[in-house]
Amino acid sequence: MQPNTPFHSRSFLWQGILILLPVGVLTVLGLYSLRQDRLLAEQDAKERGAATATQMAQSVAHELAQQLTGYRNANFAWHAKLVQDLGLALRPRVSSPDDAAWQSIRAWEQSNPGIDLGAMPVSDCVLNTRGDFSMPQIYPLTPQPPDWLLELSPEQRRLWQQQEQAEFVSNNPAAAQAAITNFLATKPPDGARANAEFDLLLLKTHRLQPAEAAAQLADTFWSKSDQLTDAGLPVGQLVCYRALQLLPDHAGVPDKLFADIVWAIAYRASILSPRLIAEGERVAQPGRADAGPSVVELKAWWDSDDSARAILRDFQQQHPPNTWTNALFWVESTGGRFLLALDNQHHAPDITVSPRHPDTSSTNYYPLLIFPEAVVDKALEDAVAKADISVPPYALARLEIAGRELALLRNQFLMDSNVPALPVLGEAPGSLSNLLLTTNVYPFRVRLILADSQLLYARQHQHTLLFGAIILASTFAALAGLMTARRAFYRQQELNEMKSNFVSSVSHELRAPIASMRLLAESLERGKIGSEVKQKEYFGLLVQESRRLSMLIENILDFSRIERGSKKYEFEPADLGALAEDTVRLMRPCSDERRVELDLRKNGAADGEPFACDSLALQQALINLIDNAVKHSPPGSHVAVGLDGDVAEVRLWVEDGGPGIPPEEHVKIFERFYRRGSELRRETQGIGIGLTIVKHIVEAHRGRVTVRSAPGQGSRFTMELPRK
Ligand code: ADP
Repeated sequence: MQPNTPFHSRSFLWQGILILLPVGVLTVLGLYSLRQDRLLAEQDAKERGAATATQMAQSVAHELAQQLTGYRNANFAWHAKLVQDLGLALRPRVSSPDDAAWQSIRAWEQSNPGIDLGAMPVSDCVLNTRGDFSMPQIYPLTPQPPDWLLELSPEQRRLWQQQEQAEFVSNNPAAAQAAITNFLATKPPDGARANAEFDLLLLKTHRLQPAEAAAQLADTFWSKSDQLTDAGLPVGQLVCYRALQLLPDHAGVPDKLFADIVWAIAYRASILSPRLIAEGERVAQPGRADAGPSVVELKAWWDSDDSARAILRDFQQQHPPNTWTNALFWVESTGGRFLLALDNQHHAPDITVSPRHPDTSSTNYYPLLIFPEAVVDKALEDAVAKADISVPPYALARLEIAGRELALLRNQFLMDSNVPALPVLGEAPGSLSNLLLTTNVYPFRVRLILADSQLLYARQHQHTLLFGAIILASTFAALAGLMTARRAFYRQQELNEMKSNFVSSVSHELRAPIASMRLLAESLERGKIGSEVKQKEYFGLLVQESRRLSMLIENILDFSRIERGSKKYEFEPADLGALAEDTVRLMRPCSDERRVELDLRKNGAADGEPFACDSLALQQALINLIDNAVKHSPPGSHVAVGLDGDVAEVRLWVEDGGPGIPPEEHVKIFERFYRRGSELRRETQGIGIGLTIVKHIVEAHRGRVTVRSAPGQGSRFTMELPRK
């Protein structure tokens, strides 16, 4: 029955498109606006990133330079104090540290509590590219044999060996002394002569008491000697060392000897220097620290210079002189990591005392500053804290300085060399200036990177969820609408089809009785029927046909009343037994015609009692049921009409031995215009409204019609009418 022609499908296709189109448009617009949202958020983040980076670069540049300069000044003041106490004036910038300088040291120490200024390497240094000059002085870690050893003549060499033989092998001081005197007579080179005289001194003091020997050793000018022994050690320090060795523990270092030691070390630092200081510590009187220059100060000065030396050595190794420029360099050293600021001055610094005056012609001189990593970190931390610039929660700030990246985490820049490459939101250059005396500037970069994209797109993500939900809901609504419309569409089509079938069935049903009535009446009119019996039979047939016709019309009129809602029922007490009997009598000619046996089975329970109902309507319903049963029964079969009931209800039923109805159609047969089977090959008469009328009438009596039937097993229709 489902009409499924291409035309119908196409017409519904358009309806479907119209229903779904708004949802489609909504989805596309939604996606587009979400994409715009995302781009906008990105754009926003980039603008903010660039602004923050610029702001940060500016304030970091200022603050960092200030912090580093503060450190340099404090460091300088600290060492200047030591140098002054020790009676040295080796450095170009030395001026007596006054109270203001001390205050600046205190202030710096207070604002940098974690950093021990005394343990830091001296910050102001100088290096030259030829490697023969530095401040502090870099000494060879393995002593080099002196030049004078190669300049000796064969005769001088023989005498030198003779002296050594006599002194150390045969232990004959007199012979040794004689050999040295002979050696000196040959006018050897300066270095050799100094060594010979030093040996002579040792031999002379050898026989004395330790105290006396120490006093004699200390009372010489050896400490200022530039010369090296044949083993490559400075003669001056060696003399001091010998003198110290002769003194007992904690005897106190004589002032003259102490001054000589300081000079000897300052003049020519060597691998002997730390041992000399250690020996000084052994001899030093404890508790003398406050009364003038002490070994403690000497050691502090040495340590800070020596750690700077180590850094300079590492710097030379990690960055060969051809890469030196006016720039910042990171140096990995045993004491940690250090930032060096180099400044090319091209000329030798003005140095008042120096072991060797360097040749300035072909050498570049680099004054440089050493900043320990801890100091740089702290300076950055303070710089960021002072700047008080808030970094957006999704971003991370990074500072690139001297080719190394530091990440700003929890308001602190931390060294983090293997940070993954993340999208850059914005970056800005900055520069450190006024670190050294010149106007040299050192560039760095501040970068804001996207560290947490989820956080950045959080709001947009929420929009996506909301939009997704809306789109999903409207899609569901549209689909539901589509389904309903589709069902209504096909239902309407089906109904139209049934209606047009109804019209053709009605015409067909009307034509048959009218044609036979006309034939009968014409035969009678022409007087062709002579016998009275035959005439009577013809009249009987005429009556029957007109009754069938009026039954049909009655049904159609009733149906139209039901459809319009104007069907009225009048309830009066009636005898259902009599009603059933009358109806069966009325229908008998009909069943006789089809040679179907019709009988009535009454059960006394419902017979004869008055029952409140519309008897005419009920009779019509019963007629419809009997008519159906007779129509569908094969000739010679049996149709039973029954009346029974109980206290609660009365039942009127009609049973036949016809073809039966499959269970899946038990509901459909009560629908209007519904007729089983194909419209073209329909054997039985009918117009498809009989059972609809029955159902309406029974329901008006607040009852229900049931059907019990199966293919090949006949049917039984029952009208169940409640008594109340
Ligand atoms: P119709 O005018 O076609 O009889 P109805 O509404 O009375 O219209 O019946 C609807 C359909 O139910 C019929 O087309 C027929 O196929 C089926 N039907 C009704 N009564 C019987 C019955 N007693 N035996 C078999 N089929 C029946």
